[in-house]
Amino acid sequence: MDKSEGMVIMPIIEWDKKGCEKCRKGWLSGNPPKEIAISEERWATLHKCDYCNTYWEGFLKNADIANEEIIKKYYPEVYKKEFK
Ligand SMILES: [Zn+2]
Repeated sequence: MDKSEGMVIMPIIEWDKKGCEKCRKGWLSGNPPKEIAISEERWATLHKCDYCNTYWEGFLKNADIANEEIIKKYYPEVYKKEFK
């Protein structure tokens, strides 16, 4: 079985290398970067840090960097606006 089918491989980056100190602290303190979109399919919200311009996806229990692939696939409106 091809496990990669229909799945987006997340970039494997250590937490302390994601985004910047401001957004990492924000996530940890329950005050994440500004929400800019929602994906019902992913059960996630898309956020963008004002300081380092990193895109984040917030899930129920965790948050991770959203790369261009993910944004293109699940947040096409944002992709159109931000990645032209
Ligand atoms: Zn940041």
